Amino acid sequence: MILDCHVHINNYSDETKDATANTFEELQNTMRRNRIDAAMILTSYKVNPGRPSTKQVVRLTENLNHIYVVAGISYLNFHLDYLVELRDYLKDRTVRGLKLYPGYEPFYPNDEILHPVYELAEEFDVPVMIHTGDTYSPTGKIKYSHPIHVDDVAVDFPNVKFIICHLGNPWTRDTMEVVYKNENVYTDVSGLVLGNFTDRFEVFMRKQLQEMILYGVNPNHVLYGTDWPICTMETYLKFINELKLPLDDKKKIFWENGAKLFKLSRSDSQLNRGSMWDFLKT
Ligand SMILES: [Zn+2]
Repeated sequence: MILDCHVHINNYSDETKDATANTFEELQNTMRRNRIDAAMILTSYKVNPGRPSTKQVVRLTENLNHIYVVAGISYLNFHLDYLVELRDYLKDRTVRGLKLYPGYEPFYPNDEILHPVYELAEEFDVPVMIHTGDTYSPTGKIKYSHPIHVDDVAVDFPNVKFIICHLGNPWTRDTMEVVYKNENVYTDVSGLVLGNFTDRFEVFMRKQLQEMILYGVNPNHVLYGTDWPICTMETYLKFINELKLPLDDKKKIFWENGAKLFKLSRSDSQLNRGSMWDFLKT
């Protein structure tokens, strides 16, 4: 079983064009082709024709039992009304997590304005995903997206589970410390490349991730995710599958850790292929 805990259906190439239906269909085809059982769609901090709102994505996914929504929250356009809307989605479990975008927007995760977000996450026991590391946009300010800032909120909100997205890349050592230190912090491996891994970068990154999992963090705290459509699902499956890790750890990373965090059950996956593990390498 494979859960991709980090995909988007934004039309990055032209934000003025509504491509929601197309990218959503392409997502489902790509999942089918790669035998991905379930996925979490993360909505953006911006809403425009190329970046559908949480409400739109909830509508798209409401009849599917293998694709769920993680609701993006804007710091710059933060309104408590939006949290009221999210409360309903959290209640009926169409939304399974919340996402913040420091770096893309200028704020630190511990900003007091956001405390109601963490309180909401605690109430419904859903994880808060936090963008960390590089921003694809040169206008992002990366001092805000350093993974060290997740430590602050993890300590202040010990009952909330946090996910450091993208391994904090390039600050993977710092991510290792924050995940190691805090029982309530996890990390996802998504978004390390645009398109496909190049051979050299793949070797470099694989070494870092392997060390992180073998010597630094609990493998129960690492989640599989891609950041599709920014990179291909094919390249990611290959990248993770070729890590030299015990098979049990890979199973946890590909499915179990994420399923636990987002409270998915096996029936939540449409494809349900018992033979999936044949594909795994040790
Ligand atoms: Zn992303």
